[in-house]
Amino acid sequence: MKKLLMITTGGTIASQPGHQGLAPSLDPTELEKYLQQENLQCMISNYPLLSIDSTNMQPEHWVKIAELVSQQYDEYDGFLITHGTDTMAFTAAALSYFLRNLSKPVVLTGSQVPFNYQKTDAKRNLLDAAHFAMENVGGVFVVFNGKVIAGTRAMKIRTKSFDAFESVNFPYIAFINDQVIDYQIELPGAGESPFCLDTALCTEVFLIKLYPGIRPELFSHLSMYQGIVIESFGNGGIPSHGRDLVPQIESLVSKGVAVVVTTQCLQEGEDLSLYEVGRRVAQNPNIIISKDMNTEAIIPKLMWALGKTADLGEVKTMMETPLAFDCSF
Ligand code: ASP
Repeated sequence: MKKLLMITTGGTIASQPGHQGLAPSLDPTELEKYLQQENLQCMISNYPLLSIDSTNMQPEHWVKIAELVSQQYDEYDGFLITHGTDTMAFTAAALSYFLRNLSKPVVLTGSQVPFNYQKTDAKRNLLDAAHFAMENVGGVFVVFNGKVIAGTRAMKIRTKSFDAFESVNFPYIAFINDQVIDYQIELPGAGESPFCLDTALCTEVFLIKLYPGIRPELFSHLSMYQGIVIESFGNGGIPSHGRDLVPQIESLVSKGVAVVVTTQCLQEGEDLSLYEVGRRVAQNPNIIISKDMNTEAIIPKLMWALGKTADLGEVKTMMETPLAFDCSF
């Protein structure tokens, strides 16, 4: 019989009303008991790691979760992580970089409505996630509302509906209906390399979203960061007339800051080579191209890459090398 480890971290799924609104306070054994009643063909153990709203999830918590999976890797056949939905996509992407060469599933789930409420999505999500965590596949996945999404491709796009997550710029891995798993793509089998933990981390990363009228001087205050992600317009447009941002960006790169350009558009990624307003920035060979990676993956990947090296060429190579389905280069 398969053995699953459920790691609980808090979130709405474990929240109950308190004096100041919903907060995680549910005894995690409630979730475990629910799964045990459902006669899954597996043994489930519970590890209550955190009890936080995922708003408070920090990169150091990603490391803790990854270390726990690594410590228990040989003991279990699959891992189910309950997590708040608000930052679940970031955690899923971070774990995709930290947990290398997985040959077992690491599945994140949560809910939009607390487990103890009458009309809740928690039970379906827990059950689906447990089913997927029993599959013979390797990788990090988000299971939510009957969808299985690659850990680097999930995005929370709805704040209230049960259908909170979408797979952005990548096909769904599978759909789950009445506990039947219907794969949409064929996952590659486990490679030769053994599983390993790789939790390099540098949190000195800043994210900036452009808007018409943004002041170039702002960028001169950003050189304390080691990495900057710019959510540019459309295919990678960065203003170069009027309030010209290009010299400021050049200056940051010359100071050794890793600059990644992405887009504010949800779908299809950037192509800096298309317009003059993109090419002006892309002509600097150290600018990092993110193509169709999602911001939720770019941030942890940049923290991970900068945790290994400050060399801009090496960071660029790591960022532009697809990992765990994060990019269609
Ligand atoms: N604020 C909650 C959290 O992210 C929302 C949720 O879990 O749905 O922890």
